[in-house]
Amino acid sequence: MPFHRPIMVLVLLLLAGALLWPRLGGDDSSEVRRSRLLLGTVVEITALGPDRSLLEGAVSDAFAEMERIEKLMSPHIESSDVARLSKAGTSQPVSAETATVLRLGLHLAAQSDGAFDLTLGRLKELWGIEGESPQVPDSDSVADALRGIGPEALRLEAPLVIKSRPELQIDLGGIAKGYAIDRAIFLLADAGIEFASVNAGGDMRLLGDRGGERPWRIGIQHPRDSQRLLTTLEVEDVSVVTSGDYERYFEQEGRRYHHLFDPRTGYPATACRSVTVVAPSAMLADALATALFVLGPEQGMSLLQLYPEAEALIVDSSGKEHQSANFAEYRL
Ligand code: ADP
Ligand code: MG
Repeated sequence: MPFHRPIMVLVLLLLAGALLWPRLGGDDSSEVRRSRLLLGTVVEITALGPDRSLLEGAVSDAFAEMERIEKLMSPHIESSDVARLSKAGTSQPVSAETATVLRLGLHLAAQSDGAFDLTLGRLKELWGIEGESPQVPDSDSVADALRGIGPEALRLEAPLVIKSRPELQIDLGGIAKGYAIDRAIFLLADAGIEFASVNAGGDMRLLGDRGGERPWRIGIQHPRDSQRLLTTLEVEDVSVVTSGDYERYFEQEGRRYHHLFDPRTGYPATACRSVTVVAPSAMLADALATALFVLGPEQGMSLLQLYPEAEALIVDSSGKEHQSANFAEYRL
């Protein structure tokens, strides 16, 4: 009876599956999913596991941690390290954590030849991109906001940060969210959670898989059609961050002006529509996504070579996709 053996195997497999699911993803496994407005976006934390009260506590602690980072690094909170640094004349001590974020940011600023820039605070204010009525500034104001900025404008001699000019305004908007995500994941793991995701407005990091050896599936939005996905990724234990020109923008006289600035021109960078980076830490993925967006596909991919642990998918300004050597392995 050659026919029966495969059926037997199938039944056994189904039974094995039925035994596995309840333990790892089913009846005695709970899911806690909560959202909050933080860091200028909606942050959603999901944690999975058998002990519901452990999940609840850890998710609350992870949110509190992200709020703590926001209070250290938001330019809009007067007591933050960043606001105090912007106000300071030439030098100002910062916390060890702000120094950690500045260290990677300054490193990337140098490696990207200034495409990534932590001193764009005045330019960002000028464009008012996060305010009520953003508008295209006149070219003199743009030139003025760019004066003295660049990779050499800030020096870190921890705990001191030294500004080359008093009027420099610091902006960690391209990297701090990633650090906050990393801290949330650290707290969840430290509390004994095995499976979790932290999603801050599409920038995310996953802890483990979804349980039961199922990877997380992450849909990446198409940069020109919000109803469509560009691609779907299957990942575990990594961070996935996207920078796009469709996230925060305004239109004036039929042109799109978004929030990722090219420090060489003072205008929104034009080489890309979106950049998705997969990397072990969200801080690295966040900063790299912003840097690659400004650099564009050619220079961006050569910067990426310095980070063998990171992979990227770039959609350039014509809609063409460019992906790094191993990015395809994440695609479904
Ligand atoms: P989002 O915060 O929307 O996920 P990004 O991580 O790409 O997007 O960061 C965008 C923010 O990065 C901007 O709002 C601004 O604060 C900051 N930024 C803009 N241009 C640059 C740049 N060239 N280098 C570093 N940071 C930048
Ligand atoms: Mg970023």
